[in-house]
Amino acid sequence: MNPNQSSQCWRGCGETMATHSHIFWQCPLLDNFWKSIFTYINKVLNVDLIRDPLIAILGIKPVVIHSRKKMYLLQILLIILHTPRSNIQLLLQDKTDFILYVDQLSYSMAH
Ligand SMILES: [Zn+2]
Repeated sequence: MNPNQSSQCWRGCGETMATHSHIFWQCPLLDNFWKSIFTYINKVLNVDLIRDPLIAILGIKPVVIHSRKKMYLLQILLIILHTPRSNIQLLLQDKTDFILYVDQLSYSMAH
């Protein structure tokens, strides 16, 4: 990464050679974060996606999603879920609001 900066993981997991892949995907301190994102996505889209950085970070279309509407919804969810927490909190007060918001999105796309 940057030769003028420490290569230690800034999340504090103890990794001394943290790559971009580690920082954004492999860091064990992100396990619950990515697990919760894929739990939401699978629940909302009624699919069974495995955790995959190609989907989560790069936005590559999963092979199990055939509907264009579901793909749009997945992209919207990923954008929302990648939004910094402080911005999300301005829009959504808690998880109930988030689920309601996603339900409304799902309904509007289905009708
Ligand atoms: Zn780490």
